[in-house]
Amino acid sequence: MTVLVTGGAGFIGSHLVDHLLTETDENITILDNFSTGSDSNLSHLETDRVDTVDGDIRDASLVADLIADADTVYHLAAAVGVKRIVENPLDSLRTNLEGTKNVLEAAAQDATPTFIASSSEVYGKSEAIPFAEDDDRVYGSTASPRWGYATAKAADEFLAVGFQKEHGLPVVVGRYFNIVGPRQTGQYGMVIPTFVKQALAGDDLTVYGDGTQIRSFTHVADAVSITHELLSTPAAHGEVFNIGAPGPTSINNLAKRVIELTDSDSAITHIPFEEAYDEDFEEPDAREPDISKLRATIGREPEADLDRILRDVIANRTDRVSIE
Ligand code: NAD
Repeated sequence: MTVLVTGGAGFIGSHLVDHLLTETDENITILDNFSTGSDSNLSHLETDRVDTVDGDIRDASLVADLIADADTVYHLAAAVGVKRIVENPLDSLRTNLEGTKNVLEAAAQDATPTFIASSSEVYGKSEAIPFAEDDDRVYGSTASPRWGYATAKAADEFLAVGFQKEHGLPVVVGRYFNIVGPRQTGQYGMVIPTFVKQALAGDDLTVYGDGTQIRSFTHVADAVSITHELLSTPAAHGEVFNIGAPGPTSINNLAKRVIELTDSDSAITHIPFEEAYDEDFEEPDAREPDISKLRATIGREPEADLDRILRDVIANRTDRVSIE
């Protein structure tokens, strides 16, 4: 049996590969163009069960060939990170729309079970906290590039469910909510690795906006085991799920907790969003998943709390610094 993981050299994808290696006896093919992914995410693997293809999900014939040889597909490759989306809107849109279409079209040929990674960004700036899967989406203007990512991920969801309805594709869509943990880089605007790096270096922690915005953070180990379980559950096929932990925290509180857990003397400074991105930037006040559908379908939910997540990220970062 062979599993294809697109984006397998990325943060979540590489943890999914680890999980599948431990929990199954399947062989794994990774398709990744190493744009935000990295060899270092895979360098710990000592196995001949993993084959890595350096290629692009926009290459339809490559995607079709790899899926023809696969029994299951996890599609995680995407242009990600708010900063990258805002700076490269066209490239991001093409990757997130064309790439997913290529995957779904190829998977539909043999009805190959497929997981599609979506995002809590799909809810946009909705204020209906916590977000349930069938809630309305609320987006800003097309003049603001940030909404291009949410729009593309929403279109991916429509495509996925359309392929299920019209071609019988067994597909699961998972909306990830701020997945965090070891190996995540702060390079593309992710908050926890950035804060941990700043705290360990004794630099100020830079909070965008007034820091009262609320987010839920989910340990990557929980996210990948839930992802695997959902695709292995026939009742989940054709459905969209929030994949996130309940128990949100404010960004100010997160910054304080990082400082406490790293024993750092760093201070916290606030930077207006307009300075960090551009004038049209819009940041939703709160994001929290309603996970009753997830609980009802697989009978469990993410387990790791914020402190466990932060301790794992700090330990991983300290290891990397001591190796460098
Ligand atoms: P990541 O950047 O670490 O992983 C994305 C991977 O896709 C990278 O390895 C990158 O090199 C690869 N990639 C990008 N464009 C490609 C292309 N054109 N062809 C082939 N490979 C390409 O990010 P991640 O956080 O691991 O995200 C994985 C998935 O989860 C993405 O679909 C993302 O939208 C989704 N997601 C993540 C989060 C999160 O909190 N991390 C939240 C919501 C959704």
